[in-house]
Amino acid sequence: MRLLLLHSLLLVGCAASPQPKVVLAIHGGAGTILRENLTAEAEAAYRAALEHSLRAGHAVLEAGGSAMDAVEAAILPMEDSPLFNAGHGAVLTHEGHCELDASVMDGASGGAGAVAGVRTVRHPIRAARAVMERSPHVLLSGAGADTFAGEQGLEQVDNAYFETERRRRQLERAIAAQARGEDLGTLKFGTVGCVALDQAGHLAAGTSTGGMTNKRWGRIGDSPIIAAGTWADDDTCAVSGTGWGEFFIRAAVAHDIHARMAYGGLTLAEACDQVILEDLTAAGGSGGVIALDHAGRVAAPFNTPGMYRGWIDAEGRVEVHIYGDE
Ligand code: ASP
Repeated sequence: MRLLLLHSLLLVGCAASPQPKVVLAIHGGAGTILRENLTAEAEAAYRAALEHSLRAGHAVLEAGGSAMDAVEAAILPMEDSPLFNAGHGAVLTHEGHCELDASVMDGASGGAGAVAGVRTVRHPIRAARAVMERSPHVLLSGAGADTFAGEQGLEQVDNAYFETERRRRQLERAIAAQARGEDLGTLKFGTVGCVALDQAGHLAAGTSTGGMTNKRWGRIGDSPIIAAGTWADDDTCAVSGTGWGEFFIRAAVAHDIHARMAYGGLTLAEACDQVILEDLTAAGGSGGVIALDHAGRVAAPFNTPGMYRGWIDAEGRVEVHIYGDE
């Protein structure tokens, strides 16, 4: 009888000690993403690419890898995909080049790294991570950042590698729209980002982008700016943003979500709603974030018609969404 009782207690004990949670969320950009603008084939391609990235990152977490390794693993295929505005398939500058920005932040150490305006490193997210781990700096820019990446052994490509026909046409349309005096805010944003929670309870975030179509004068958006486009802190949350970068920089969007949790005691969902749905919207900015708290809860608010997004939650459920009504 005593043995039986002990056995059942042990069973209860096992059931009560939960497996470490691993959670991963990604975005592939926010913007005017409407059903009528996407063919069935294009929609299926986006959903498949998002799921592929989710699974690549999640596999790292399940194998016991770090949140930072998972963020990199999820972002790499999106940088390689022509569908997203990051790496191959990035938008073009006014002069017709690709200038790429990326950043990472490690919630355990508070370490951060970023590159802005790089033209030859194939995977800007790897360059951002190298800045964090192998330099005394946080943000490197332009040719110097490409040189640093090359010295770190990261793959270099000709700038033409990043360019696609679709982005060339998009640039031509943007230049024509600008000539008509139309508003930049109506453009789509295709930046990619990832947030992850690993088995050790650590959070990490990363963001990678080509910036905004038709940008000039070395314009840099929020994506490589720690606190604007990317933030991670094990005590609160990990955040990656996409949208009109100037608004995200002025409002320090990613850090503001963290700060409202840290100093204001808000939940992740409350902080995200205030920062994106209330304040960003009131300021006239557009975009969204994916965010993940230390308990593995995901939030993905945006004030645009759609945002490419997905997550694998603590129970292993995979969700991929595109439109605002999903
Ligand atoms: N946030 C990016 C930028 O302003 C654009 C994007 O999200 O696609 O550079």
